[in-house]
Amino acid sequence: MKTSVEQTTKQYDLVVIGGGPAGYVAAIRASQLGKKVACVEKEQVGGTCLNWGCIPTKALLRNAELFHLMRDRATEFGFSFEKVAYDWGSIIGRSRKVVQQNVQGIDFLLKKHRIDLIRGEAKLGVEGEVTVQSAEGQAHSLKADKILLATGAKPRPLPQLPFNGHNVLSSRDALALEQQPTSIAIIGAGAIGCEFAYFFNAFGTKVTLIEMQPHLLPQEDSEVSEALNKAFHQQGISVHTGTRLLDAQADEDGVRLTLEGQERHTVEAQMCLVAVGIQPVLPEGANVELTERGYIQVDDNYQTSRPNLYAAGDIIGPPWLAHVASFEATQAVEGMFSEHKPRQAKLFPACTYCQPQVASVGLTEQAARERNIAYKVGKFPFSASGKARAIGEPEGFVKLIFGETYGELLGAHIIGSEATELIAELNLALTLEATDEEIKATMHAHPTLSEAVYEATEQAFGMAIHL
Ligand SMILES: Cc1cc2nc3c(=O)[nH]c(=O)nc-3n(C[C@H](O)[C@H](O)[C@H](O)COP(=O)(O)OP(=O)(O)OC[C@H]3O[C@@H](n4cnc5c(N)ncnc54)[C@H](O)[C@@H]3O)c2cc1C
Repeated sequence: MKTSVEQTTKQYDLVVIGGGPAGYVAAIRASQLGKKVACVEKEQVGGTCLNWGCIPTKALLRNAELFHLMRDRATEFGFSFEKVAYDWGSIIGRSRKVVQQNVQGIDFLLKKHRIDLIRGEAKLGVEGEVTVQSAEGQAHSLKADKILLATGAKPRPLPQLPFNGHNVLSSRDALALEQQPTSIAIIGAGAIGCEFAYFFNAFGTKVTLIEMQPHLLPQEDSEVSEALNKAFHQQGISVHTGTRLLDAQADEDGVRLTLEGQERHTVEAQMCLVAVGIQPVLPEGANVELTERGYIQVDDNYQTSRPNLYAAGDIIGPPWLAHVASFEATQAVEGMFSEHKPRQAKLFPACTYCQPQVASVGLTEQAARERNIAYKVGKFPFSASGKARAIGEPEGFVKLIFGETYGELLGAHIIGSEATELIAELNLALTLEATDEEIKATMHAHPTLSEAVYEATEQAFGMAIHL
C-alpha cells in the first residue's frame, strides 16, 4: 500500500524553499524561463520583507510623518486643528492591512506564473528531494533537478537579553504592539533601530537609542551619520553612541540597562527593542558548508557545496537587503537555466526611511580616503533648493564623491526628504560608470529635489550656481 507521502510526490525543474524576496522572485523568473516550479513557504509568502520588515515599517513611518506634520507643523502650513489625536490600534491595523494586500499580490503572481505554492516547513533529503510538512500534518514529497534555498534570517537576540515578546522585543514584536510604550530603549542604531526610534518618538514615546559604534548608521558616510544624530537630538531622541551594554535586567516593571559610554550609567524603560542584527534560518537537512558566521557559503553561481543545491538572499550573508535578495535570486536562476553568467551584488543602494531619510550607494568618503583614492567632494544643502523650501523640507544635503583625475562618480550620500527615491539616479550613474560631465549633461527638472544632485556635481568642481 502506498503511503500518503508517496501519493503526493511531484517532479519539478526547480523547488524554491522560502517565499520571501529571494524565493518568490526566483520562482517567478524560473517560470518565465519555461521551468516547472514549486515554492515552499512555512508562513505567508513575501517573507520577512513583506510581512515583518520593509513594508510594515514603511507603513508605520508614513503614519509617523503625517502625525508629526499635523501636530508640530500645522501652523507653518496655515492649518489649525483643535486636537490632533490618533488611535494606536488603527495605526498598527493599517500597517497589517497593507501587508495583507501585498501578500495577496504575491499569491496572485505565483498563481499567474503557474507556480505550485506548497505551504509548510521544508526539509532537505538526499540529492534532489524535499519533504514538506504542513501545519495540518499533511506531508508532500517533492523531487527537483535543482533546489534553491531562500530561507532568510531572523532577529538575533542578545545573550543577556533574550526576546520575550512582552517587554524585550524583536523587530517583529515591535511591529504588532497592542499598546504604545511610554518609553523604549532601542539597542542598535542600524537602519532598523533608527527607523523604530523615529517612529516611536514621533508618537511621544520616550526613546533612548544605544549604539556601540561611534556613529548612528555606522555603515554610512560619517558626515551623514552626524547630521542624523543632530536631527534625532532635535526631535528629542536620546542618542548614546560609542556605548556598550554591560548588563540588562527585564522584569514586570520594565527593563534596566547598564551602559558604558564615556561613563557608566543606567537607562530604564518600559520596553527594550533589540535591533543588533540577524541570524540565519537554515532548513533541516541542509548539510552544506557554512561561512564563519553560519550563513550558507556559495560560489559565483550561487551554488552551495552540494550539487544542484543553490542559495540566495539573506541566508548567504550580508548585505541583508530585500533588493539584494531579489537580485541574487534572479542571477542564480538565470545561471541555472540559461547561458547567463551570474553577477554578484557588488553595488547596491542602502536606504533608511526615518525622517530625515538617509540613502547611499558606492564609497563613503572614509573608504575613499582609506583606499588612497584621489577624490573630490561635492555637496549641496537642501536649504538652497527652491523645491525643498517650497515643500517645507530644507533639512539635509546631497554629498557626492568623484575621482579627481577622471571625474568618475565613486559614491553618493543623501540625507533629507525623499533621499531614498533620489538615490536611484546615482545608483544608475554608478552602474554606468558615469562621470561628472555626464551628470552635468543630464538636465534635471526644475523645481525638483533632484536638482541638488546636479548642483552637488557642479560644486565638486567649484561651479555650483545656487551656492
Ligand atoms: C524590521 C525590518 C525592516 C527591514 N526593512 C528593509 C528595507 O526597508 N529595505 C530592505 O531592502 N530590506 C529591509 N529589511 C531586510 C529584508 O526584509 C530582508 O533582506 C529580506 O526579507 C530578505 O529576503 P529573503 O527572501 O532572503 O528572506 P526572507 O524574506 O526572510 O524570506 C525567507 C522565507 O523563508 C521561509 N522559510 C524559512 N525556512 C523555511 C522552511 N524550512 N520551509 C519553508 N519556508 C521556510 C520564511 O518563513 C520566510 O518567509 C528589513 C528587515 C527587517 C527585519
